[in-house]
Amino acid sequence: MGSKPYDVIVVGARCAGAPTAMLLARKGYEVLAVDRATFPSDTISTHLVHPPGIASLDRWGLLDGVTSTGCPPIDTYAFDFGPFTISGAPGMAEAPVAYGPRRTVLDKLLVDAAAEAGVEVREAFTVEDVVTEDGRVTGVRGHGSGGRPVTERARVVIGADGRHSRVARAVRPAQYHDKPPLLAGYYTYWSGLPMNGRFETYIRPDRGFAAWPTNDDLTLVVGGWPVAEFEANKKDIEGNWLKMLDLAPEFAERVRESTREARFVGTFVENYFRRPYGAGWALVGDAGYNKDFITAQGIHDAFRDAELCATALDQALSGARAFDDAMGDYQSARDEQVLPMYELTLEFAALEPPPPDLQRLLAAVHGNQDAMDAFARMNAGVLSPAEFFAEDNVRRILAGTPEPTVDQVTGGHHS
Ligand SMILES: Cc1cc2nc3c(=O)[nH]c(=O)nc-3n(C[C@H](O)[C@H](O)[C@H](O)COP(=O)(O)OP(=O)(O)OC[C@H]3O[C@@H](n4cnc5c(N)ncnc54)[C@H](O)[C@@H]3O)c2cc1C
Repeated sequence: MGSKPYDVIVVGARCAGAPTAMLLARKGYEVLAVDRATFPSDTISTHLVHPPGIASLDRWGLLDGVTSTGCPPIDTYAFDFGPFTISGAPGMAEAPVAYGPRRTVLDKLLVDAAAEAGVEVREAFTVEDVVTEDGRVTGVRGHGSGGRPVTERARVVIGADGRHSRVARAVRPAQYHDKPPLLAGYYTYWSGLPMNGRFETYIRPDRGFAAWPTNDDLTLVVGGWPVAEFEANKKDIEGNWLKMLDLAPEFAERVRESTREARFVGTFVENYFRRPYGAGWALVGDAGYNKDFITAQGIHDAFRDAELCATALDQALSGARAFDDAMGDYQSARDEQVLPMYELTLEFAALEPPPPDLQRLLAAVHGNQDAMDAFARMNAGVLSPAEFFAEDNVRRILAGTPEPTVDQVTGGHHS
């Protein structure tokens, strides 16, 4: 048996788990956060953090921890469709720029902030199963690096343990809007490839690739093809990857003049929503909701879950609201905020040519700076796709009138 019952045990201590634990500890709860990893450590993920995620870090008092590492700000998103490039500013009032901090930097910052807030952080601790009593989750069973079995108990166990979540496997939540993997992506790091504050992405038939700056003067370049080509292309990842870049010859030339500093890392992911709560348990981050990484929304979505879930759990644990009411609101707020972007992400991840209507719209966006900024903000998760593609907004863009875009009307803040 472990030492004492906690209010909350959080399984997984990266983008979703560490801030959820931190926010609950800041509200005065006794929190244990465990992770089988030790920190700093890397994980399979690129790491563009759009302005909404940067705004969360700022709200939590952690943004200096990113900027002080010399990680360069990104103020321009450029979408190269071949015939034209849509280039705009992704920022919002609270966060004018994006950053691409290495996960070794970001996750360590988050886990340290949790410890600083009073969370008991246990690294190198693997959860093997959840403990249930009378159908209710009451704790976890696991072991530290020594292998000795340990049981810890809490009023609520939160699965922040990613897309292969052990907690989700145990509690079997209802799953909805599922879609099988669409895109297989590979990334690596280059030196001597300056980006000058730009995130660049190239959209080509059956291919998509992107680059942005990160720590240590390195540039991350990621690219992918349909998952149907995964087996065939994995025989020569580097060759196929470089051939893909040739679809944008100037960019390919810049990469070829640079030096690759790391091996290729790649994967593909399932797309799903899971009911994120039940008797004695909750899910945050990829454990509860996952989607293709082509739109790079996962980190700020994890941050948003942390805030929504910590707020709802505080209401439930303090007795202010019934657990199911508070957590039901967490689920509906999450789903409402992410569903339009989920659908857009799956469309992009199919890597099919945009339908004719969208092609016409994109051509009209090109060259109209307000519309290009709105397009960049939509891709950054600042402006909902539902608003960008709203009939009135589309009509205005197609008419090419100088009237304000929806984003100006609403001040660019929608999350
Ligand atoms: C290839 C790729 C590229 C991506 N690019 C981006 C991007 O550019 N921008 C972006 O915003 N998002 C991106 N994402 C998504 C992003 O990585 C995730 O959404 C984000 O990491 C989710 O955080 P999380 O805390 O939920 O899960 P994770 O980061 O997966 O963390 C889960 C943690 O749980 C721990 N854990 C798991 N099981 C156990 C267990 N049984 N016991 C103890 N600990 C356990 C793990 O060790 C891990 O540390 C990308 C994803 C992939 C796969």
